[in-house]
Amino acid sequence: MAESIAVIKGDGIGVEIVDEALKVLRVVCERFDIACECSEYMMGGCAYDNYGDPLPKESLQGALQAKAVLFGAIGGAKWENLPKDKRPESGLLRLRKELGVFANLRPAMVFDELVEASALKPEVITGVDILIVRELISGIYFGEPRGKEKNRAYNTMAYSVQEIERIAHKAFALALSRSKKLCSVDKANVLEVSELWREVVERVAKEYPQVALSHQYVDNASMQLIRDPRQFDVVLTGNLFGDILSDEASQITGSIGLLPSASVGESHAIYEPIHGSAPDIAGQGVANPIAAILSMAMMLEISLNHAKAANAVRKAVSSVLKAGARTQDIARFGCKKLCSTQEMGDLIAQAVARSVLSEEV
Ligand code: NAD
Repeated sequence: MAESIAVIKGDGIGVEIVDEALKVLRVVCERFDIACECSEYMMGGCAYDNYGDPLPKESLQGALQAKAVLFGAIGGAKWENLPKDKRPESGLLRLRKELGVFANLRPAMVFDELVEASALKPEVITGVDILIVRELISGIYFGEPRGKEKNRAYNTMAYSVQEIERIAHKAFALALSRSKKLCSVDKANVLEVSELWREVVERVAKEYPQVALSHQYVDNASMQLIRDPRQFDVVLTGNLFGDILSDEASQITGSIGLLPSASVGESHAIYEPIHGSAPDIAGQGVANPIAAILSMAMMLEISLNHAKAANAVRKAVSSVLKAGARTQDIARFGCKKLCSTQEMGDLIAQAVARSVLSEEV
């Protein structure tokens, strides 16, 4: 039976980069004999323009029925002054909540070919391979009460034991499949919610004796990520701290246009690049599609259970970078061929086709 994929391109460069991810997916499906059925839905500013709602009912239904959601990005200045519930971002937050995707997985790895693209020294970042596991649908972004009055404003950071347990289990299981090292990041020296976080993580750790658990306060972790990023493998943290640390980690690796993410729950998943809709370059054909293509690779591995196909995509990306193909954002480093968004997608698709052929020979 065909795997059902809900495709949401969104706004700005979302459209351009998802088109390239789909181009590569088509080649992957052909070479690895995977049957996929992609249905397209609207979300974000474009959905508001067409339906008066950033997450129309039929898009939510489509996402709920699909095996996985392949998503680009949403947002733009045009919709910034709408009432909060009509803004593109509220559509995305609702989609995550409705699908129950509580774990956001953000790999931050350095491509050897792009070591020079980082603001950090090559000797500090060569070989960095971090997986940040961020709790995504609770914590201070969702906590009640929240409000803004004339002379004060407030939000609530709250986690239940059950919410901490489920994200901790996810992170420990991932650590088991990697280097068996997990660092939990909190602010337990100040926040009660972090005290509970630490207690629960330590309790869950007893079920994973093979994994070495450490803890860091978030202020120290943000410093250590810059000072010595190779000390980290899996990093487990809450919604707010994870939001900030994962953007910081992305900069270790060079361009924001390179990094994928997966948001997974019990029965649904969303795959999306970590960047936004980049209105400053939208429609110019210069966006880097690699983050979207690698997000599609995460979908192949996690939701479709095709690790081999996912690896073929990752290898194709590496080989194209090795050959010196660069989009504008990474063109300062080892560029032998400056590529448009489409050309980069073409090269990666061709490399996937070639890599599989050479394995067959
Ligand atoms: P952004 O990530 O869109 O862009 C930041 C910078 O990185 C820009 O200079 C942009 O040109 C560049 N950039 C981003 N992706 C790139 C790519 N693939 N290739 C080359 N360069 C790339 O962040 P922003 O400018 O702060 O936000 C723009 C809009 O995106 C806002 O409306 C924001 O709300 C929205 N946003 C959406 C998401 C999402 O959909 N998940 C995430 C973040 C921001």
